[in-house]
Amino acid sequence: MKIIRVGLDVPVAKLFDYRGDAHADDVGRRVLVPFGKKTVVGVIIEVAAASAVPHHRLKTALRILRDEPPLPADDLRLLKFASDYYHHALGATVMNVLPARLRRINAPRQIPVCYALTAAGEAIDPDKLPARATVKRRLLALFKQQRILDYGAIRAVAVTAPAALKQLLALSWVEAREGVVPPPPAHTLGTTSARPPLTVAQNEAVQAVCAQLDIFKAFLLLGITGSGKTEVYLHVIDAVLRAGRQALLLVPEIALTPQLEAMVRDRFPGASITSLHSGLNESERLDHWLAAQSGQARIILGTRLAVFAPLPQLGLIVVDEEHDASYKQMDGLRYSARDLAVVRARQRGVPIVLGSATPALETYYNAKNGRYQLLTLPHRINAAPPRIDYISTREEKLADGLSPRLLAAIAVRLERGEQSLVFINRRGYAPVLMCHACGWLSSCHRCSAQLVLHLRDRHLRCHHCGHQSPIPATCPECGNAELAPVGQGTQRVETALVQHFPRARILRIDRDSTRPRHAWQTMRRQIHEREVDILVGTQILAKGHDFPHLNLVGVLNADSLLYSADFRAPERLFALLTQVAGRAGRGDAQGEVLIQTEFPQHPLYTALRSQDYAYFARNLLAERRQAGFPPFVYQALLRAEAPKLEAALEFLAAATHTAKALSQNVTIYDAVPAGMLRLAGRERAQLLVQSDSRSELQAFLSAWHAALADTQPNRARWSLDVDPLEF
Ligand code: ADP
Ligand code: ZN
Ligand code: ZN
Repeated sequence: MKIIRVGLDVPVAKLFDYRGDAHADDVGRRVLVPFGKKTVVGVIIEVAAASAVPHHRLKTALRILRDEPPLPADDLRLLKFASDYYHHALGATVMNVLPARLRRINAPRQIPVCYALTAAGEAIDPDKLPARATVKRRLLALFKQQRILDYGAIRAVAVTAPAALKQLLALSWVEAREGVVPPPPAHTLGTTSARPPLTVAQNEAVQAVCAQLDIFKAFLLLGITGSGKTEVYLHVIDAVLRAGRQALLLVPEIALTPQLEAMVRDRFPGASITSLHSGLNESERLDHWLAAQSGQARIILGTRLAVFAPLPQLGLIVVDEEHDASYKQMDGLRYSARDLAVVRARQRGVPIVLGSATPALETYYNAKNGRYQLLTLPHRINAAPPRIDYISTREEKLADGLSPRLLAAIAVRLERGEQSLVFINRRGYAPVLMCHACGWLSSCHRCSAQLVLHLRDRHLRCHHCGHQSPIPATCPECGNAELAPVGQGTQRVETALVQHFPRARILRIDRDSTRPRHAWQTMRRQIHEREVDILVGTQILAKGHDFPHLNLVGVLNADSLLYSADFRAPERLFALLTQVAGRAGRGDAQGEVLIQTEFPQHPLYTALRSQDYAYFARNLLAERRQAGFPPFVYQALLRAEAPKLEAALEFLAAATHTAKALSQNVTIYDAVPAGMLRLAGRERAQLLVQSDSRSELQAFLSAWHAALADTQPNRARWSLDVDPLEF
């Protein structure tokens, strides 16, 4: 009997020893063990000869699960790093990364299925099918080209492709088979479909990366919107596939995956592509994970969680829109997928490409100081950059948030049959309901936040905790019957636009309207096929989309981010507005961007007009250096929450005391209430620590975290956030 050290999903920073009949190659496998009165699943982290636990107290592992392959050592190495760096228990880290099916005791054994063309199907000419059966035709054509497809490839054809598959199965043109799609022969792995010749700048970028495919090297691809970054990724991926390796492509949003997946499939018809994101159901998640791990999937496309996908032949990582805040997980293991991607590339000795028009200042600084290699795409491919102009809301009177000049500009585009986008980063009808008689405001009783008025389903809703209540008929304070919405959200702007342009086809795109499954895919098609004239949307629309008929972008309410206490607010606003503006004029026409603001002379807006990221970043970096903010220092935030603020502050006071006793080269700030004091019925406070040495901060955090874990906090819950993005 050996000793196996098992990581379990418990918040304790240690491994648990069991006796077990294990070999060295069982490391990374799942195991069933008794824990307290229960049986749980864990992962074997080590196999050892002896344990520090007295022999009679050691329990015996029940069963090592050898059906699935073990997590590769390289993956465990990344997870170990994440656990150490973010001070999150290793067992919890490993278990949280596994697909849910692998975390359960009775995970039904998945038998993978793929679909193959039959002899009967072979004999059918897709072009002879009725013209209106478009999806069926396309699907059959794809089968004739590839013979065998997995479900993911089928679903990527169209939203209704699964229904078409059922028809093909019923006709016996296609049959289901056990097993996975066999990997294609190496020579078909590269790109086959037509591709545009690269521009000089694109070519330089591709060459620079391809010259270093065998070593770790981080590249920052700084390319303005519409400069063709995607094409650079695809060329580098092509080279990596030809070298027989796998490529990992990370994107910030699930909403971006279907279009990118379709593009990648189209470009690499011979390569198996799989996706990993939270929109998959459990069995898809497991299938895709195993496809990555078996090496069958050659390109893995996914959101932040995909950074952990097991990839035995990893040859390249690409992080698109690397500045995007959604790469950071805000609970549990508070990791940055972008940062872990860089660590992973270094561990594996492969290149990583970080792409953005507005990189995070941390990334840009690394490129400037030579740790990353800077590659730039300074020009748009087909068009001039959009022209940015400001509408002073001091001079123009707004109605429902819209200025006469913006409305006139929309009318011009409508006349020409072009699309416009009105951007407002608030969903709902109005951000608050108010009584003008007594000043009552609709606010959430569980959060320091206001309840947003949603007129569509007649509710007041908290966007932070989800609490909702019916709209009161009269003021709850004074009984006044006239309650008025204050400010604008997407629904109100949509309503106003309908009144102004009764004949225009208007589409609202926000988290509410895109919630139904496949809603967004349908909307995207409508936009591409010009079934829409005016889009009203939130930042869902800002990222990465290529809408060739969209030429005017109007921005409402940009100022709300201008004077925020958060030192990252200007960086975020600049990135957001650059992204939104970048949606305009990606086809042939000149794009126009009109930003409504009270402060047209603000330096941020001046820099935005000239779209000079480098200038803007240089100034911000100088400010950050002076003020002693990241990237010139490293930070961590200890957050505490309790039913009452006093308890949270009390815990942080004790933590401060502990910290001061340990403190080396680390600055410990005063504990303060959180910017948003109450959230979901709990009150929050936080304590910032920082150092100009990452390693000293890490050493301090290890000792501090261990000391905190040993104390019994009163009623406070706490967590540590390393490299926090939000304060
Ligand atoms: P970015 O991601 O940098 O904003 P995209 O990658 O979306 O830009 O490219 C913008 C548009 O230019 C896309 O429609 C793309 O197909 C097209 N494109 C990219 N590279 C080329 C090229 N070398 N020649 C012609 N068109 C290109
Ligand atoms: Zn009132
Ligand atoms: Zn709330």
